[in-house]
Amino acid sequence: DRIPLRRALISVSDKAGLVDFARALAGRGVDLLSTGGTAQAVRGAGLAVRDVADLTGFPEMMDGRVKTLHPRVHGGLLALRDNAEHAAAMEAHGIEAIDLLVVNLYPFEATVAKGADYATCVENIDIGGPAMIRAAAKNHAFVATVVDVEDYAAVLAELDVQGGATTLAFRQRLAQAAYARTAAYDAAVSSWMADAIGQAAPRRRAFAGTLAQTLRYGENPHQAAAFYADGSGRPGVATARQWQGKELSYNNINDTDAAFELVAEFDPLAPAVAIIKHANPCGVALGETFEAAYRRAYDCDRTSAFGGIVALNGTLDEATARAITEIFTEVVIAPDATDAARAVFAAKKNLRLLTTGGLPDPHAGGLTFRQVAGGFLVQGRDNGHVAREGLRAVTRRQPTEAELDDLMFAWTVAKHVKSNAIVYARDRATVGIGAGQMSRVDSTRIGRRKSEDMAEALGLSAPLTEGAAVASDAFFPFADGIEALAAAGARAVIQPGGSMRDDEVIAAADRLGLAMVFTGQRHFRH
Ligand code: 5GP
Repeated sequence: DRIPLRRALISVSDKAGLVDFARALAGRGVDLLSTGGTAQAVRGAGLAVRDVADLTGFPEMMDGRVKTLHPRVHGGLLALRDNAEHAAAMEAHGIEAIDLLVVNLYPFEATVAKGADYATCVENIDIGGPAMIRAAAKNHAFVATVVDVEDYAAVLAELDVQGGATTLAFRQRLAQAAYARTAAYDAAVSSWMADAIGQAAPRRRAFAGTLAQTLRYGENPHQAAAFYADGSGRPGVATARQWQGKELSYNNINDTDAAFELVAEFDPLAPAVAIIKHANPCGVALGETFEAAYRRAYDCDRTSAFGGIVALNGTLDEATARAITEIFTEVVIAPDATDAARAVFAAKKNLRLLTTGGLPDPHAGGLTFRQVAGGFLVQGRDNGHVAREGLRAVTRRQPTEAELDDLMFAWTVAKHVKSNAIVYARDRATVGIGAGQMSRVDSTRIGRRKSEDMAEALGLSAPLTEGAAVASDAFFPFADGIEALAAAGARAVIQPGGSMRDDEVIAAADRLGLAMVFTGQRHFRH
């Protein structure tokens, strides 16, 4: 299964490392073939190379749309060397065997990321490149296929170890990576087109990303894991700059994303801070300053905040950085950080600082995925929002303006809490969060108990749930949830409405003196 490498066809858009690689191949006696720009670069370095146009007898034409689509190329890649008929066809048509294909594709993903216009994106769909990659990879019994500059060194190492040949196992690994590349490429084209023509629905879509990072392990140490970028360029953990600290873990990435998506919901003119643990917020607050917002968020649940992930919706400043370093924090993510803030963190070697340059648009579309046995579930992002004017008051008592502020705040936070979600808020800070329970009443009780624990720790005369506004991510199926909220001292409630027993729920709120509004929209999050 060792195939001597005699002839290579190189056609690359990304010319990084090209000349060195071509020189190393030539130095090992490999005959080089190339397309226009690649041949020019190789020849410019003083190396001998044949133009594919000379091989095919056709010039490159139609702006490069047709360069390598020719039997002399595809026959040379696809012919089975040990098949008499194939050999006869090669002989009859003057087809030379190609043992190594080196292609990297037109930079379609980068062109889209730059925001290029429709026609430019279309022109950057590579045709001959994927065709050659798929042909060479199919014929991996004889041909080695390289689609990544990072693999040049491995090819040279293989040739040296194998005396100028490649082994089947090596070619198989390259072929596997080659098909991953062409699949990801076409998925990127399909996703771009879906956006471009406003066909955002999750039908007839192919999904793939590009490897951003291999991770040490997954959710648990016995699980292998990797991080893929989807190429959307959405500001967040995938595109962030990491200033310091260890490599992010799988759980860090998941939690950091949850934290940043949550703070992005708030107007960047109002400092907002979220502290996340296990993908749920354990404190969220607005404040006059980021420091104030952070301290208020921290005071929601100081116990859980330890070892958490902190997100800001604006520039991290020195005072906030100092406040954050008072306890152990895993990751801080913000659009930006001042030099002074970065200097404060520099002393904390284990703290990772990420800056993104911007906030993700909470109204943007896009898809989310979940894997189930045998398939993927795909849906549009939860980019639903209700305006204050869209709320429907259903109780005798109408909420006050101050209560409405807190209801809107709590509702926004509840969208980012695992169901069943109950969020108590006062003065636009969470004061009790019940997350991820199988019963809504339990979430109500947990939020209350956390608030009581904090009141005790802070030496308050009463828990802050007294007088709080409360959000529920989905409707109350029975009046018992409302009764539990009233027992905790809550004064106002926001929820979607829509239960069969809404009448009973509203009657309970009226009986207990609560003001309640319906959003008409649900925010399940599982
Ligand atoms: P060069 O810079 O050598 O002129 O072009 C290299 C690029 O052309 C590579 O990215 C390769 O994938 C692409 N390519 C090679 N053959 C064809 C073809 O027949 N049609 C198109 N559209 N692209 C090709």
